[in-house]
Amino acid sequence: MPLPDRRLAVALLLVAALGTGCSPSRPAATAPAATRAPAGTAPAATGPPATAAFTTAAPPATRAPSTTARPAPPGYAFPVRGCPVSYGHSHHDYPATDIFTRRGCVFAAPVAGVVDEVSRTDRWDPGTDRGADRGGLSVSMVGVDGVRYYGSHLGSIAAAVVPGARVRAGSPLGRVSNTGSARGTGVHLHFGLSWPTRPGIWWVRRGMVAPWPFLDSWRRGGDLSPARAVRTARARAGNAVPACTRRC
Ligand SMILES: [Zn+2]
Repeated sequence: MPLPDRRLAVALLLVAALGTGCSPSRPAATAPAATRAPAGTAPAATGPPATAAFTTAAPPATRAPSTTARPAPPGYAFPVRGCPVSYGHSHHDYPATDIFTRRGCVFAAPVAGVVDEVSRTDRWDPGTDRGADRGGLSVSMVGVDGVRYYGSHLGSIAAAVVPGARVRAGSPLGRVSNTGSARGTGVHLHFGLSWPTRPGIWWVRRGMVAPWPFLDSWRRGGDLSPARAVRTARARAGNAVPACTRRC
């Protein structure tokens, strides 16, 4: 589909979905266990959100069609849909972004791709604070750009979101809450970028590249891709599964 048509379709999809996109009063759901891998980690936020609040309700800006032979980038969508959000340009211990928003807001696929790992059980115990459990309910997906995207501290996960399921940019993956190590802190989506690994490698999945430059682009309707940054980080790590060194 030509780029403008596709963008229009994404915008229409978003507009259609926004009617039910945010249910701040919806309680966090407890879902039955159907896990494929341990929950990822997502340490609690320790500071206030640093940047001004904005909403993500607006569809992506229109752009002129490319006149070059360069392939169009995949369309990106901000991963929290239809709710005011705020986030800082920093994260404790390792690269990631904590996106603060309201309970029940939609965690949406940032780009088209395939669901990777799903954790529907909150195993976090503050007494042990195991790194593998800190994420609570979480979903990761691998985009058509080769990047793995991860969101955690979810309250519920859509039934159709299972490993191998195909998603489009903006498809709902779950709803934001404060499961895992966010139990005692604010409701937020922990958002991480990494490269795909075998299942269960939570210390990579939680985040290896800082997401905020890309979040900044997407909330403005841009399509800045993290693919190159993730490839570079993987090469620098020297191994698809480097050792866990922080909050392990
Ligand atoms: Zn976090």
